[in-house]
Amino acid sequence: MSQSDIQNLLQQNRLLTEEVKRRIDQIGAINIVAATVSQSLDLDVTLKTALRAVLDVVGAEAGGISLIDEASKEVVLRAQEGWPHDWVTQPMRIPYGQGMSGQVITRDEVVVDNDFDGTEALAVPQFHNENFRAIAMAPMHARNQIIGILSIMSNQRNAFSAENIAVLKSVADTVGVALDNARLYETTAEQEERLHAIYQATSEGIIATDLHGRISLINHAAATIFDVDAERLIGTPLRESPIHRRVRDSLLHALSDNNNDKKSFQVNLDKRLLSIVVSSIVIESSIDQARHNDGWVIVVQDITHFRDADVQKSEFIRTAAHDMKNPLGVALGSLNMLNDFVGADDPTAQELIQLGLNGISRLQDLINDLLHLEQIEHGYGASMTTFKVGDLMEEAVKDIKPLLSEKNLTCVVEAADSLPQLTADRRWVKRAFMNYLDNATKYTEAGDVITARAYGSSTMLYIEVNDNGPGIPVEAQSRLFERFYRASDDRIKGTGLGLAIVKSVAEKHGGGVYVQSQQGKGSTFGMTLSWGTPPPINPTSAG
Ligand code: ADP
Repeated sequence: MSQSDIQNLLQQNRLLTEEVKRRIDQIGAINIVAATVSQSLDLDVTLKTALRAVLDVVGAEAGGISLIDEASKEVVLRAQEGWPHDWVTQPMRIPYGQGMSGQVITRDEVVVDNDFDGTEALAVPQFHNENFRAIAMAPMHARNQIIGILSIMSNQRNAFSAENIAVLKSVADTVGVALDNARLYETTAEQEERLHAIYQATSEGIIATDLHGRISLINHAAATIFDVDAERLIGTPLRESPIHRRVRDSLLHALSDNNNDKKSFQVNLDKRLLSIVVSSIVIESSIDQARHNDGWVIVVQDITHFRDADVQKSEFIRTAAHDMKNPLGVALGSLNMLNDFVGADDPTAQELIQLGLNGISRLQDLINDLLHLEQIEHGYGASMTTFKVGDLMEEAVKDIKPLLSEKNLTCVVEAADSLPQLTADRRWVKRAFMNYLDNATKYTEAGDVITARAYGSSTMLYIEVNDNGPGIPVEAQSRLFERFYRASDDRIKGTGLGLAIVKSVAEKHGGGVYVQSQQGKGSTFGMTLSWGTPPPINPTSAG
């Protein structure tokens, strides 16, 4: 090997060593910035420490960090160091696409101007008086997009070497990711605060528990309803919490149920009535994408005022109805007497009297139906007995015999003798069945057949009345059981309360109502009643 070869080799070796040293310095610089910026999740702190660290490792006297504001489509200066003027308190906002920052974003690469004098087309007005002579800006990325710009500045021309720029480029993304994390953390914290404010402000009581029934959250309203100290309850198992025993037992019962359905019930405390809904919190696991039950949320409402208003309303209806019955009876008696006086030779007077009698009889029907509905809904005078449904049906058909004969209708009762006996309030069940029968006779053409059927499943008794009447349009079917709803024309007498009474009776006996009808082909009206021990008749005593 010649002397010049050796010289060459030594030269190459020196260059290589310098290059390796430079790289090591760069990696060291990146590490320093990375370590510094990951120390805090506070966005303002991260902005300041990141900028300080970058200026140190790059060796620049001034710098800035701008973040992209997606909403206003601007680049906003959030941290600065070494600038004569404060552009952070009154932030420098540069619209997308303008100035050097605009170039950085459009080209998505580092832009360097080592001979800046502020008069260039790219210089935004705010930079004119900052006296910078060299500027380098690098895009910061996070989650595959540009989130801002990291800039370094100097008062000297040609201050930034290729090496400075390489370091700036390398640290920009590290700073970007740290800032993005801090921003995400801030957004999450903000959302959490907003959520906290919302559930604290709601008038409904909210309690959340984990899967084991340990209380993880309780708002002001719940603490007030149960008269407990919210702070001290966090982490306490529900079964050990100092809330009213009756409420606690009902809650524990609802939580012990393994199915995830919503459970709602009412609890009657000494003077108050609480409505409670228990729902399971179901979350989607990011690991196996399955849905898991993660605990429970309990929503409590004090509905004492509704109950009081309801009691007052029904008292008013009862009093008003009783007060109306007497004068109506007197008017009815007088009209009947008048009818006798007038005699058959004055048909106009008789017609007028008949109109008056019809009106009074409709009013009496309405008052009776209203009273019945109130009685059923509030369980006044409820009395449970065990009886054969077939007997009740035969008895009811006998009662409406005059109506059937009037229209020459036949009513067939189909109820197997083997049908188990029903435990229910016989008077109400008969009333409900009579209402179905009554409607069938009212709405069926003369000479037709009505079929009343009873059959059972393991849990329910079904009672149905079928007729070949006019049927009911589909759009009216869902509203038939509402109070005062009438789908028929006014030529057929009715109060619009008959089906509402049936519904109320069925629901009080743990069942419901249904209708199958086709226009022109007749209708089948049905109700279900639970066989067994009847449910509590008065809803306010549940729980
Ligand atoms: P109403 O006193 O008007 O009969 P209901 O509550 O008993 O009040 O019935 C509500 C409406 O349902 C009636 O106005 C009528 O339009 C319709 N309806 C009830 N039963 C029958 C039936 N068997 N056939 C046809 N329509 C019926």
